[in-house]
Amino acid sequence: MPATIVVGGQFGDEGKGKIVAYLSVHDKPAAAVRGGVGPNAGHTVSHNGKVIKLRMLPSAVINQETRLMIGAGVLVDPRVLLQEIETFDVSKRVVIDRNCGIIEQKHLDEDRRGHLRDKIETTGTGTGPAQADRAMRTALLANDVPALSRLIGDVSRETNSLLDSGKLVLIEGTQGTFLSLYHGTYPFVTSKDVTASAICSDVGIGPKRIDEVLIVYKAYTTRVGGGPLREELTESQAQKRGWSEVGTVTGRVRRAAPLDYALAKEAAVLNSPTQIAVTKLDILFPECRGARKFSQLGYNAQKFTKNLEDIVGLPITLFGTGEDSQDIIDMRPKQ
Ligand code: IMP
Ligand code: MG
Repeated sequence: MPATIVVGGQFGDEGKGKIVAYLSVHDKPAAAVRGGVGPNAGHTVSHNGKVIKLRMLPSAVINQETRLMIGAGVLVDPRVLLQEIETFDVSKRVVIDRNCGIIEQKHLDEDRRGHLRDKIETTGTGTGPAQADRAMRTALLANDVPALSRLIGDVSRETNSLLDSGKLVLIEGTQGTFLSLYHGTYPFVTSKDVTASAICSDVGIGPKRIDEVLIVYKAYTTRVGGGPLREELTESQAQKRGWSEVGTVTGRVRRAAPLDYALAKEAAVLNSPTQIAVTKLDILFPECRGARKFSQLGYNAQKFTKNLEDIVGLPITLFGTGEDSQDIIDMRPKQ
């Protein structure tokens, strides 16, 4: 599968980072390319006992052989990006598209006051205001920032030429379908579309380039910030079930609810997935913690996943069973 795109089927934080990390180690893609909004995304990846937190770089950072690219549609906060590049010592394999929009201090300030903070409860990372400047044609681009000059390239061209030569490319979406500016729970959404088509556009590849669309659902739902959440649990109910999570970027407690099957189905319509990954099965069914074979799933976990497959009408090919990037049951057909 030369081009695989990974997208979120809920409100973000489905565990896309973990899935991308697994695929990057297992499938050894030539490149991983980030689409999505910008540093409002937070991916947490556990690998070999180390916990890695990322906001700008693709979660494929753990595979030393994989090139790490950021598509033109993505907003870059140079401070966040340069810090991550230094932390992971990856400057030699990073390419930032010259047309990435730049987040400046004024965008951060604007995102941390008024209705964005009080009503929408944004992540405060400046993405919405920077996106607005981009639409107004007043934004800076990566090309204009001297500190980024050694990282700049043409990500669309590089991605397309890797695909032309039959190389594997992993495309990483961020946020989740119902945070989409167009298809989500407006106004409680992020500042861009984040469905699979938008992620292609962020990177600069046409829809026919994609072989596999992998939609990621978490076994329950979480949401940070304002907006509707059906069957929302109280904080103490969420805690009892082990569903009380803390946001990677904001440190806020995530709201929690059971998996919403109607939304899962709607997300599939919006993204045209070819396969499903389901994460955090071990939180719902502790006995499957660390399982790496389907036969290690208990009856209830098997019933739950079968039901999700029936409702969405697609096979689950990856089952997340623990926090380590390799805690996965991989049921994809062997290549
Ligand atoms: P913004 O994207 O920072 O403008 O925030 C808009 C809404 O999207 C808020 O409810 C955020 O909590 C949510 N949001 C943005 N990015 C993410 C993400 O990566 N995971 C979860 N929620 C997010
Ligand atoms: Mg996240």
